[in-house]
Order: sequence, then C-alpha cells, then structure tokens
Amino acid sequence: MSKRDICPDCHVEVGELHQTGCDWETCPNCGGQMLSCRCLLSEVELAGRIPYNGRDGRPDQLAAEEHGFWCYCNPDWYGDPERHYGWIPCEKNHPNAALDLNRIASECEWDRAAKKYVLPDSKKAGAIGAKEGGK
Ligand SMILES: [Zn+2]
Ligand SMILES: [Zn+2]
Repeated sequence: MSKRDICPDCHVEVGELHQTGCDWETCPNCGGQMLSCRCLLSEVELAGRIPYNGRDGRPDQLAAEEHGFWCYCNPDWYGDPERHYGWIPCEKNHPNAALDLNRIASECEWDRAAKKYVLPDSKKAGAIGAKEGGK
C-alpha cells in the first residue's frame, strides 16, 4: 500500500487522464485499447476519456472480476491446440488464477453510456453460477 499506484505505461496517478499514446488507456467509444482502436478523436472526446483507475481498475479487468472470468496458464499446453492455447478457465481461488481478459473481448459488449463491459442478455442466464464467491 505504500507504493503509489501509477499507470504502468504513462505513469499518471489514479484519477488523471493518460498521456497521449499510453497503451493502458481504454477507448470510451469502443472499449478497446485506445492506442490501437480506430475511433476518431472527436468520437472519443464526445464519449469522454476514461482516467487511470488503478492497476486493477481498467474496465476489462473490472468486468472480468465482476463476471467471474478467471483462467490459469496450463504449462503442458505446448503441442496441444485443443487446450485453449494454454489458458484454462478456472475458479477465482485457483492458486494461479488470472483475470481472463480474452473472454471479455469475445463475450462481452461495450456499454458506451456506462463505460463498462456488460454481458449480452443472451449470456446472462449462464453467468449466474459464476457469481458465487464474489465477495
Ligand atoms: Zn497511462
Ligand atoms: Zn475506440
């Protein structure tokens, strides 16, 4: 806790806007990485830029945590393409659990107004089980 939480890429503090070209910034218009998405600056400005919110506070991280999307790296995946390229879905309490951000990209939709990732209605029913242990 003594260490200041600053953006790993551009080093701004929590609550500040990222520097131009920061690879941590989330695009408020599409939810993608601002550095690599193709939104026009005016669209981005209209939607309002998202300030740095801490190392665990990026919208995709928050959504993965909220929906219980966890995975761990399977060290034995080499040569076995069936195995999710090494990342296996798991519970949060797995010793090597990491947030499954790929699932956010593939399963969630970006809510531009709320500036967060949401599950499409069709997926919500299946996500109830994952809420367990959310505290
Ligand atoms: Zn930054
Ligand atoms: Zn964008």
